[in-house]
Amino acid sequence: MLSQQSTTVSGFETAVLYKEPGGGGLECAGAAASSCFDGVRCSWLIDKPQSPIMRPRKLLRALHEARRAVMAKDSGIEWTHHTFNPWWGCVKLSPACAHCYAETWAHRVGMDLWGGDAPRRFFSEHHWREPLKWNAESERLGERARVFCASMADVFEPRIDLDPWREKLWGLIETTPHLDWLLLTKRPGHIKNVYPWAHAPRDNVWLGTTAENQRWANRRIERLLSVDAHVRFLSCEPLLSAIDLTPWLKNQQINWIIAGGESGREARPTHPNWIRALRDQCERHNVPFHFKQWGHWSPEAQGEPAKKIIELHDEAGRLERLSWRPKRTSGRLLDGRTYDGYPRAPL
Ligand code: SF4
Repeated sequence: MLSQQSTTVSGFETAVLYKEPGGGGLECAGAAASSCFDGVRCSWLIDKPQSPIMRPRKLLRALHEARRAVMAKDSGIEWTHHTFNPWWGCVKLSPACAHCYAETWAHRVGMDLWGGDAPRRFFSEHHWREPLKWNAESERLGERARVFCASMADVFEPRIDLDPWREKLWGLIETTPHLDWLLLTKRPGHIKNVYPWAHAPRDNVWLGTTAENQRWANRRIERLLSVDAHVRFLSCEPLLSAIDLTPWLKNQQINWIIAGGESGREARPTHPNWIRALRDQCERHNVPFHFKQWGHWSPEAQGEPAKKIIELHDEAGRLERLSWRPKRTSGRLLDGRTYDGYPRAPL
């Protein structure tokens, strides 16, 4: 059994030192790296190591990867400052979920949390106090911060045992007025059943849904529109086909579009014209557009030569050659520039 204590690096409590019974110690590898979470505590994830079969160093590595994936400041989720998960676990629902990275991360730390019958993972008060610190920091700096909720779950999953945790989340949102909470769901139809502000929108909540193709866009957007929100947004990621959002963009029913390709071992390619079409629709209707990432497949002409190349046709038959590259190498340039649009926050 491992015990843990935090230590301080460069004035921040960042490192976790693991001690095995009988002496000896194993310092967290990430602690030495200046890029290690920028001073954010990393002990929250590991208050109860769950996987006795993992070797300590392997466990640490997996935990750090998971931490990196869910903490926005270091995870590469450009469009948010923080990520908050009220719990972990979910049920796969649509093609966007096929390679759910959250499930993969949970498995890496030895947890089986996906499926209707699987348990969910809940967190201690320490975890729930983190947004209070972010809120205080935002107030002190005089700058609002965005909080993505949730990367390891779906806040509106219809499951009764989640209701008390949702209530706790609503309370937290009320007590953190300097944070903008971005609630992103694939189940917008359930919002009205459990969300207290469905017809009295809160200034610090943005409601969003995923639209990976036209079918799911049509279905989810109409459900999203059935509840009130000052900011409604779409995450078109992983983008799996061309989508026409004109009906909802032209009258500003949707206020922000995020688009991106897929990453991960089995990543599916996104045709650049699908991204361009969303960008053009947004420009035409003056809606902010944010291109998050290519993922693993990016235009062949846009980087170093790669060994793995595919040819992809869009719906009009236009061919694009895409190369498999590391996600960071693929980057987020679209036709030579970045797209970092954000909606106007009500506060
Ligand atoms: S809704 Fe999100 S967290 Fe849930 S299975 Fe789909 S991708 Fe994963």
